[in-house]
Amino acid sequence: MGKGKLIVFDGIDGSGKSTQIKLLKEDLEASNADFAITGWKDSKYFYNLYIGDLIERIQEGGVPIPPEARTFLLATDLSYRLKAIIQPALEEGKLVICDRHIYKVISQGLARGLERRWLDIMFEFMPHPDMVFIFDTPPSEAYERITKKREPSYFEAGLDMRPDLDKKTGFLWFQQKVREHLLDMTKELDLHLLDGTQGIEAQHDAVLKQLSNCVPHLTCSHK
Ligand code: ADP
Repeated sequence: MGKGKLIVFDGIDGSGKSTQIKLLKEDLEASNADFAITGWKDSKYFYNLYIGDLIERIQEGGVPIPPEARTFLLATDLSYRLKAIIQPALEEGKLVICDRHIYKVISQGLARGLERRWLDIMFEFMPHPDMVFIFDTPPSEAYERITKKREPSYFEAGLDMRPDLDKKTGFLWFQQKVREHLLDMTKELDLHLLDGTQGIEAQHDAVLKQLSNCVPHLTCSHK
């Protein structure tokens, strides 16, 4: 697909993806690179109309949204972003930084009891990335980081699966399941695992080192 390169950042909630994308964005701007960034909720039209609203309405009815339905909605968002943002940018030869691709959404589906075969078919439309960084952070550390700024969301805490748990216990339980599936996929698909417990600077150095093969002339603008 096109002449550009697709670089993916994926990992559990609070693992540090957005922080690293922000630093990389500053380096790419300083290097005058031609790039695009797409995040999980960028197709606002689809997200607001179908995903946000539908999830709320289903919760209002007291019945958690079924995992299949949630996956359909997330696939809708991703397929729209592919056509609207990712594909055109790749065709223009840009470097595309994708904040989430299929890895966490598949791991979440597996954690919610869906079959891998079903999930693979659902997300088959996504092009293979040139580089995938998987951020691995223990859920207890991700929880501490998130709760410095906000409460984990209903879905981040897996409360659709275990409404009997409090948010902290639910988060630790659910995110550990997702993490284990992500680690399995990392091995299986030979993705690049990043130690999310490292400091922000050390992670940034590791990202730049790994990217230097795909993106020549990229230098750190933070030192
Ligand atoms: P994600 O995008 O994976 O959900 P964020 O990048 O938003 O995670 O990080 C979650 C929180 O943790 C933020 O408040 C961020 O400042 C902090 N954080 C990110 N990376 C690190 C790190 N390596 N060490 C300590 N705190 C971090």
